[in-house]
Amino acid sequence: MSQGFTSRELLTGVHHIQDPLGVHLTLLVGQDRALLLDTGYGLYPLEEYIRYLTRLPLTVVLSHGHHDHALGAARFGQTWMLEEDLPVFAAYTSQQQRQLALARAELAPQAARRYLTADIPPPAALTQDTFDLGSLSAQVIRVPGHTPGSLALYVPQRQLLMLGDSWNPQTWLFFPEALPVRDYARSFQGLMALPFQQALAPHHPDLLPRDVLLAYAKGLTEEGFAQAKPYPVPGHAHIPTRAFAPCAGALLIFRV
Ligand SMILES: [Zn+2]
Repeated sequence: MSQGFTSRELLTGVHHIQDPLGVHLTLLVGQDRALLLDTGYGLYPLEEYIRYLTRLPLTVVLSHGHHDHALGAARFGQTWMLEEDLPVFAAYTSQQQRQLALARAELAPQAARRYLTADIPPPAALTQDTFDLGSLSAQVIRVPGHTPGSLALYVPQRQLLMLGDSWNPQTWLFFPEALPVRDYARSFQGLMALPFQQALAPHHPDLLPRDVLLAYAKGLTEEGFAQAKPYPVPGHAHIPTRAFAPCAGALLIFRV
């Protein structure tokens, strides 16, 4: 049944799910509806795993268009994202990106062929700013930085912020579509106005306390940017990058 997925209900109705290749997705289950933030790599039948967790009508939202969040959109009829990230989605769901993901998995030849050739319908552009799930809701927050159309979701009933790739133990800000580091910093610091107490990130398994993110936001300073040291990222060493730790335990890597 699990198909290599695992999940934990970290707060009531909040399931943090791990894709077999490592990235996390989050499922919100309200009284009337469910919402899935991100779809992982799409190599395995995520739609069946979600149906095992809930039978409620499902809305699928992408935090942004990168492959590890968006390739699984192939498994759902309809997905939603901010319009600004549609070009990112188009680039990162290419055959080449699928080949790279396939190389990390062991799929039977027929499943591999299907994965490579699947028609992935482009997400619809998000127009609403709140999803009401009954007893839970999710507010769409724009966080341009990691990509132009990155979004976060805020769940007021749980005082929970779902960050997308706008924060991770290593936050990556060096792909061509990333905004300049100062634009990202402004977006991220804006998130701190939300009254969240805990947060979730796609490349971290557990809840993060507010204090950690406040310390990180405070560390996004001119002094920090100036102190950043060259930091070649394995697999992306051709991109000139620098990194520094805005707070203990977190690294921001940005394009020079
Ligand atoms: Zn990303």
